Amino acid sequence: MGAFNTVSHVVDCPSCGHPVPVSVQFKYGLRFQFKYNIGDLIEFHATDKTPPESAVVADGITDGACPSCGTEPELDMFVFFAHGVITSVEVADGRYSFLE
Ligand SMILES: [Zn+2]
Repeated sequence: MGAFNTVSHVVDCPSCGHPVPVSVQFKYGLRFQFKYNIGDLIEFHATDKTPPESAVVADGITDGACPSCGTEPELDMFVFFAHGVITSVEVADGRYSFLE
């Protein structure tokens, strides 16, 4: 179980359709359980002099419970970055696959 960061997002509950505020856990950049919002520039290792890649997609998973029905949707997500800035978060649709 490694460290991860999270970005705040809202997904539709797969059970009742109610909007669910979730934390999307992802592993990119410096992993120190940072909490981000879309639009944030994420932290990288201070010793890493290479600039963040221009376009990155990371896999993520939601963490949170539906305030309406209590379902805890564990949805696979894509987290998109441009030059280290979180640009968007989407429900994973199979466009990308990740090998651990
Ligand atoms: Zn629900």
